[in-house]
Amino acid sequence: SKLKEGLEKTRKGMAEKIDSILKSYGKIDNGLFDELEEILVTSDVGINTTMDIIERLKTKVKENKVTEAIEVKELLKNEIKDILNEKEKDRELNIEPSPAIVLVVGVNGVGKTTTIGKLAYNLREEGKRVLIAAGDTFRAAAIEQLGEWSKRAGVDMIAHQENSDPAAVIFDGIQAAKARKTDVLICDTAGRLHNKKNLMNELNKIFRVVEREYGDARREVLLVVDATTGQNALIQAKEFQEVCNISGIVLTKLDGTAKGGVVIALQTELNVPVKLIGVGEGIEDLQKFNTDDFVDAIFD
Ligand code: GDP
Repeated sequence: SKLKEGLEKTRKGMAEKIDSILKSYGKIDNGLFDELEEILVTSDVGINTTMDIIERLKTKVKENKVTEAIEVKELLKNEIKDILNEKEKDRELNIEPSPAIVLVVGVNGVGKTTTIGKLAYNLREEGKRVLIAAGDTFRAAAIEQLGEWSKRAGVDMIAHQENSDPAAVIFDGIQAAKARKTDVLICDTAGRLHNKKNLMNELNKIFRVVEREYGDARREVLLVVDATTGQNALIQAKEFQEVCNISGIVLTKLDGTAKGGVVIALQTELNVPVKLIGVGEGIEDLQKFNTDDFVDAIFD
């Protein structure tokens, strides 16, 4: 599958290394746990999360009176599944009933535009009426690029001119969505983190408009982060979490990176589910995250 192909490097960096360590050990001892810890940390699972996994693993080994190193693989795999499964029931997009609004936030370059196009396409394939609002008004090229993706996805886009007020675009998007009986309005937002204060002010203004115009209707705030940046994705996510109420994470560019372990760090350290993953540049390359598929793709 595309997921399995995409995770090949993570599999090599994580599961295959774990395999060879376990094979080299025979009996379990403390040195083994240190080596496993090292592999998890270098696979971007994150320090805190790794420590937690290793502690749980030690407990399981004791409880089950496991002595052979080779048996640790299944225990570790299940431990990671248990951790990720804690959020499995929260992974569906919060878009029922209509009308729903999906705000997409994230720093430039992470794949925000592409993700909006892919998501619009997927939702449309599910039979939903989708509208896109071009809330990143800083560069004309960004609006154009989003327009291209809208066309590809077969959905309409609400846009104003370059440098217009982003909150006004979102306002218009909401009015259009109401008038056209849209099921899901997907909103792009600014992504220039170099001026953090401006970015956060801009986002807050958008959130206020949504609050006022939309009330209690379904709302999803998706943060897009780039898997190839590993621990930086985690840092970025924490920064965004300080200003917005993120309801889900989209992890892009999982294909071809060895840093797939960051999925685990993101969920555990932010306490937010990874809802969608990007596994390629094409319009069909956005998938719903599923714990079993993900962990099996790395370990089996
Ligand atoms: P934005 O600046 O955040 O809007 O980023 P873009 O959507 O323009 O994407 C930046 C680059 O990342 C483009 O070349 C995309 O094709 C690429 N990209 C986005 N998502 C993925 C993905 O899941 N996998 C791969 N391989 N490339 C991606």
